[in-house]
Amino acid sequence: EVSIRDLSKSFAINGRPLAVLKGLNLDIRAGECLVIVGASGSGKTTLLHVLAGLEVADGGRVAIDGEPVHGVGSDRAVIFQEPRLLPWLTVLGNVAFGLEVHGENRARAEERASDHIGLVGLGDFTDAYPKQLSGGMAQRVGIARALTVQPEILLLDEPLGALDAMTKITMQEELARIWSEENVTMVMVTHDLEEAVYLADRVLVLPKEKGAAARLIDIELARPRDRSEPRFVRYRE
Ligand code: ATP
Repeated sequence: EVSIRDLSKSFAINGRPLAVLKGLNLDIRAGECLVIVGASGSGKTTLLHVLAGLEVADGGRVAIDGEPVHGVGSDRAVIFQEPRLLPWLTVLGNVAFGLEVHGENRARAEERASDHIGLVGLGDFTDAYPKQLSGGMAQRVGIARALTVQPEILLLDEPLGALDAMTKITMQEELARIWSEENVTMVMVTHDLEEAVYLADRVLVLPKEKGAAARLIDIELARPRDRSEPRFVRYRE
């Protein structure tokens, strides 16, 4: 459970302050999938960075299970962006790398990595190198790498933005499955509203205008679903 209270963040642009997040209040429920949408520049990435502890807010409080998040990075909330895979390491090496950096011994790291590679459907590509993978596969490796650290909160910044339409649909279904199997809280930024409705329990709409409040749309209320089943709500109505 993440509690965000009166969160604000400004940046200096051309010597003038630009207020990006303005008094945001939000509780993210444990295990939910919260999708963040909003115009370009509305602060979606900034919010993920604050949650990951990569960016310090100017005002307000953010706490994960009551523990304040400071701007020093955190293992509890891990951000997944572009999968920048290390070209000289295999899929297994790339996924295990994060764990080894966290001090896990190689055998244990590779065992856990290999479980997560299976989870994203790449069991046959464990020993392949990044240049042998398609864009969608590389994306899956990135997701496996983020998951092996076993974060409580997986933060995804437009994870499927660069994929072709068909791969995107497959990956959306994959994300829904991973989310239900891993019991992880997911916070995802997207520009794709259909994707937002498909994946989200709730959608947070960040405003760009000064003084406007963020809106929360409860998808769960409108469309109840069994968490253990993939959702096809987008094909109804
Ligand atoms: P997009 O949809 O285009 O990715 P976004 O909603 O994710 O946008 P952010 O990346 O959070 O928006 O950026 C919000 C605003 O904050 C932008 O106007 C950007 O110029 C500014 N900004 C973000 N990071 C920094 C930074 N490190 N230094 C200065 N300004 C920044």
